[in-house]
Amino acid sequence: LMLLTKKLIEIRSMLNSIDQSDALKLPSIVVIGSQSSGKSSVLEAIIGHEFLPKGNNMVTRRPIELTLVHTPATPTNPHPQEYGIFPTLGFGKEKIFNFKTIQRTLTDLNLAVPAEECVSDEPIQLHIYSPRIPDLTLIDLPGYIQISSMDQPEELREKIAGVCEKYLREPNVILAVCAADVDLANSPALRAARRVDPRGVRTVGVVTKVDLVEPERARDVLKGGGGRYPLRLGWVGVVCGQGGREGEGEYFRRHKDTFNPPSMIEDKKGKGRKPEEKDERTLTGTPTLLTLLRHVLSLSMSQSLHTITNAVQLELESAQYQFKVMYNDTRITPESYLAETLDGLKAHLRDVRREVFARTEVRERVRGLVEERVLDVLEGVYWGDVKGVKELTRGAVEGWKTGNKENDDEALKQLVMARQKLESASSLLAKSGVGRMTTALVADALREVVDASEGSSSSSSSSSSYSNPNSILTSEPWIHHPRARELIVEFANSILKERVGVAADMVENSVKPYKYAREVEEEILEAEGVIQPPSRNKQSSSSWFGWGSSSSSSTTSTSGGEWERARQRSVELLEREKAMCEAKLGEIRKRVGGSRRLGAVVGYVRDVEDKARERVLRASLDGSSDQQDSERKKEIEYRYTSAQVADARHAIAYSDRVDVLNLRLMALKSKRCRAQALTAPASTSTKNGNGTGIGTGTELCPEVFLNVVADKLAYTSSMFLNIELLEQFFYQFPREVEGRLLYGYSSEAGIKESDGAKGGNLGGRERAYTWRSEVEEFARENPAVRKHLELQERKDKLEEVSIFTPFDDHLVDSFVGYETAE
Ligand code: GDP
Repeated sequence: LMLLTKKLIEIRSMLNSIDQSDALKLPSIVVIGSQSSGKSSVLEAIIGHEFLPKGNNMVTRRPIELTLVHTPATPTNPHPQEYGIFPTLGFGKEKIFNFKTIQRTLTDLNLAVPAEECVSDEPIQLHIYSPRIPDLTLIDLPGYIQISSMDQPEELREKIAGVCEKYLREPNVILAVCAADVDLANSPALRAARRVDPRGVRTVGVVTKVDLVEPERARDVLKGGGGRYPLRLGWVGVVCGQGGREGEGEYFRRHKDTFNPPSMIEDKKGKGRKPEEKDERTLTGTPTLLTLLRHVLSLSMSQSLHTITNAVQLELESAQYQFKVMYNDTRITPESYLAETLDGLKAHLRDVRREVFARTEVRERVRGLVEERVLDVLEGVYWGDVKGVKELTRGAVEGWKTGNKENDDEALKQLVMARQKLESASSLLAKSGVGRMTTALVADALREVVDASEGSSSSSSSSSSYSNPNSILTSEPWIHHPRARELIVEFANSILKERVGVAADMVENSVKPYKYAREVEEEILEAEGVIQPPSRNKQSSSSWFGWGSSSSSSTTSTSGGEWERARQRSVELLEREKAMCEAKLGEIRKRVGGSRRLGAVVGYVRDVEDKARERVLRASLDGSSDQQDSERKKEIEYRYTSAQVADARHAIAYSDRVDVLNLRLMALKSKRCRAQALTAPASTSTKNGNGTGIGTGTELCPEVFLNVVADKLAYTSSMFLNIELLEQFFYQFPREVEGRLLYGYSSEAGIKESDGAKGGNLGGRERAYTWRSEVEEFARENPAVRKHLELQERKDKLEEVSIFTPFDDHLVDSFVGYETAE
């Protein structure tokens, strides 16, 4: 019999977890009683521990569902420990042996309901395991009764009434706690019970504080207020709380005669017992209460069982059918989902590695960046000086004429200047922090891979609907898992933090400025025959640069093809730059109102500025100029708005730049540049000059030369970046993610050693670890997976329940005719 009750309680909580509908509800005992009626004391007497929230104004705002589980003593465990668990709380199945902790937890949970909500109908689940308690389910609804009788706004009253109604509904058994020192007519608990159970068929009355009144009066109360409040399940008197000091058992033994008058058999006078005398007996004591409750619960559970069995069967069939149709009977677990998700991530990462970070891809990107620097250098060293550009272009197109002394000297001077400029330009380029820059570029690209931001965000550029196409975290399963994403981003960032500095240094060293420019130059010069390997020609023109000729003579350079490629790229680069300037010009033209108008403003500004220059010149000769200067400003502002003047200035700058670019494009397309060196003056000597002029493509077309350097820099950079950053990242990152998220530890190559000092890392590790214990939660973040899991669980539980119920059928019959009071 006890076994059955236990099973039924299990089934009950299982059914509760499956469904909130009434169809699958097994009864439990709902405890009601007004404040100070002794209700807590009764519950604690049942459990044998203090565990309920105490204190003034401690009105319970949530029902407490107590599942009492009898843990029998066994030969191996003669003294089973008592403990409680909160099965639905975060810490889950953790056993709490200290009932003070349970009390504190209940208090906290209670306080968590905001005062303005007043009550919540979401019960707190608490399971208590003990060898001293029977299997029972009790629902404590403290506070509810008296709240509902207090002066409350209508809305709240309804809400409370709703919560009460839900719990006091059939088939639940009601335990109405009434104090002996209060007239039953005034007992709020009894009143509430009678409202829902007018015939008194499923209410048990508990009379507390029996010790506080005369035993005769108590007995009267136990008889249902002298028979005015009959309850089919009976009344039980108890003494607990402070009154329990004497000991309940002691008290009732002392007043045995009052509560249990001697029966006829015990009557020595043999008078024979009157029929009414049997009715003089009352039920007393907590143990009796427990027995009664157990029997009542078993009885009402078994009565519900027949109905439930059928309902369960129907539900099960439907769940099985759905599971088959929707998931083809495929089972998943949160762990399998996590593993699958991480596999997907790894595969995605491999794709990204192959497609986005392929060697040539990276090299192209890095070169793009270096070419930007090339433009900066060209602008700084060459293009600002229009006269210089003209001279250089003339050299490229015509060659600097030689032939007589004067021309020779002039050409030589130009050549020296050109070479010096080239030297400073190339060293400027190599020193421009290419290593750091390119490393940052690749690191940023890697960050994009784990960019978790959807839509507009940190990303500087583009529209609000921007979503990073390279990110492995913005696609399907990950959009459901913001927390995991955050962790993954964190892992990636710490790996990058660790690697980027190292990689940048490596790359920077590998493109060591001067050395590099020098090697390239030697290679090119050698290929074009400008410098000769030392053995062949001591008088090498490398003396221009003051370099010793150290390159080996056997090197066969492919720089001829290299030069041509670089030339073509330079042309493209300049064309692009030119197109950009023209586009800007177009914008300005549109803004100002057509080319004629722009021409007018430009002409005007030029004119005014020429005059201003003159004036400044004059002023500097004869003193003050401030006033005139401001007059000039006024004059401009009078004719045109300052915005128009600014536009005109920009237009001048852009069109000047276009002029320069046109000249340079002409140079780049010249024969001399194409052939890199049309004439190859083997040395500084100009003796062979026959009017074709001197100057090689190298110094006449610095754009091409710098492009060759840029290409070399890009090549070397990307090679080192591949080894130092990409290989490392794509090796370490997936291992880190899997290690932390799937197995809950930090991969040894991980981050903790590197900056453990900061302590922030430990936090990260802990979070990862905590996260690990929340795999279940992770899986359920994905709605599709949640649905799958839920249906699967429902099916499993129903299967389990349906195994119990039919087989218990015959036991159910044994309850019939069972007498509760004995
Ligand atoms: P609740 O507000 O209904 O939960 O009532 P409590 O269980 O907190 O009891 C209110 C007060 O009555 C406490 O001081 C208890 O110690 C006391 N009390 C409870 N039961 C008895 C009893 O059977 N006899 C006596 N004398 N006092 C009791």
